Amino acid sequence: MKKVIVIGGGYGGLRAIEHLINNKKIELYLFDENSYHYLQTEAYGYIAGRFDLHDVALDLKNWCHGFKRPITFIQEKVEFIDSSKQTVQTKTSTFDYDYLIVATGARTNFFDFISGMDTYGFGVKKLFRSHSFRTSFEELLYKKLVNGSTSNEKINLVIGGAGLSGVEIAAEMSNVIKKHSKSIADATKEIQIYLVDASDTILPGMSPYIIQNTQVRLDNLGVNTLTKAFIESVDSDTVYFKDKRELKYTFMIFTGGILANSIDSDIEFQKNRLNQYICDSTQRIAENIFTIGDCCEIRNKNNIILPPTAQIAEKSAEYVADSITGMILNQKPKPFDAKVDGLFVALGGNYAVGELFGFIKTKGYIAYILKKLITKSYYIGLKLRLNTGFKKRTILNKGVLS
Ligand SMILES: Cc1cc2nc3c(=O)[nH]c(=O)nc-3n(C[C@H](O)[C@H](O)[C@H](O)COP(=O)(O)OP(=O)(O)OC[C@H]3O[C@@H](n4cnc5c(N)ncnc54)[C@H](O)[C@@H]3O)c2cc1C
Repeated sequence: MKKVIVIGGGYGGLRAIEHLINNKKIELYLFDENSYHYLQTEAYGYIAGRFDLHDVALDLKNWCHGFKRPITFIQEKVEFIDSSKQTVQTKTSTFDYDYLIVATGARTNFFDFISGMDTYGFGVKKLFRSHSFRTSFEELLYKKLVNGSTSNEKINLVIGGAGLSGVEIAAEMSNVIKKHSKSIADATKEIQIYLVDASDTILPGMSPYIIQNTQVRLDNLGVNTLTKAFIESVDSDTVYFKDKRELKYTFMIFTGGILANSIDSDIEFQKNRLNQYICDSTQRIAENIFTIGDCCEIRNKNNIILPPTAQIAEKSAEYVADSITGMILNQKPKPFDAKVDGLFVALGGNYAVGELFGFIKTKGYIAYILKKLITKSYYIGLKLRLNTGFKKRTILNKGVLS
């Protein structure tokens, strides 16, 4: 039996396990510091109050019990990798491995050079940060509602970073506030959403079709877009731009960049400026240590860096699972290659803009349905395992969750 340890129960980690589970020569261990898998791709809906907690957080223990063969789930943070001894360490124990898959993802990069952002900005890469924004915003609406507020005090929600997550949050927030404005009228009066980015356009690097149609939708939703707006600093109520403009805010969400989660180790592994592991063409940083997803810089066969997305995390996971299966049979892994199949941007309510396989371009309700199909099929797959795992745990333990 070969022991494979996966660190991180995100999109990459779970996909790697799904691809290794049928190999009877492998014993699988999953480590995550949290008890749940966080569906970051749905965070925009949770933040805006459209989705519930159970839509974005799924129990990892139940998921691990949902397979025919057991997967050992250890809810602990891995604090050290000893590549020479082939062990990982948590606060309480040391575990040995034959193959290690590092799938630790990334967190929001609040950028040290933007003074105050770390203190005043909400992030969305961690559930507690999304939850913290959601509850603060709902609390404010609630207070305005029960106090019968008719004041004209402006509430500015500023979203820093007009990449995929920033755009999705701005659109969904705007859509939800529009809905609220009919039911709880005065409480939503004077709420303005600002989407701010230092680049020339929103969604920098994406195709003109996606950029233009997203911009039209944001305009229709009443989102104020500020491009070429470089945030220099933030204090408790004002955003200061490099060109000396200022913007008062009530809430600041920052989605301007990511910083990879790495783990201390006996060897100083090479990393890029986003703290991502720099791996070789087989996704390895050491003979038996693979990296997948947001925690590493992933390149295709033409040496082009691929975007840190769930889609690429899953593709790298499938590749690494196949490589490990091959290595157990003494086969040498081939270099990794992948391409982005497409991208859908959720733009509030039943509206999206997307491209698939480079030639299908779609917007509006059809794009929304396609996006929903992709996310639902992912969610349902996890949910089936979760239900099976839950049943197993309760039946084995006579009605009480083990
Ligand atoms: C609002 C938003 C919308 C997005 N929309 C899309 C989209 O439409 N399409 C798309 O493809 N991508 C999208 N993304 C990006 C996507 O969510 C990420 O690329 C994806 O989550 C990366 O997966 P991962 O497995 O690398 O890491 P993650 O999903 O971040 O998982 C990492 C896991 O590792 C665990 N961990 C970290 N360090 C340790 C440690 N030391 N010990 C134990 N556990 C640890 C964490 O708890 C976490 O569970 C979106 C992101 C956001 C924020």
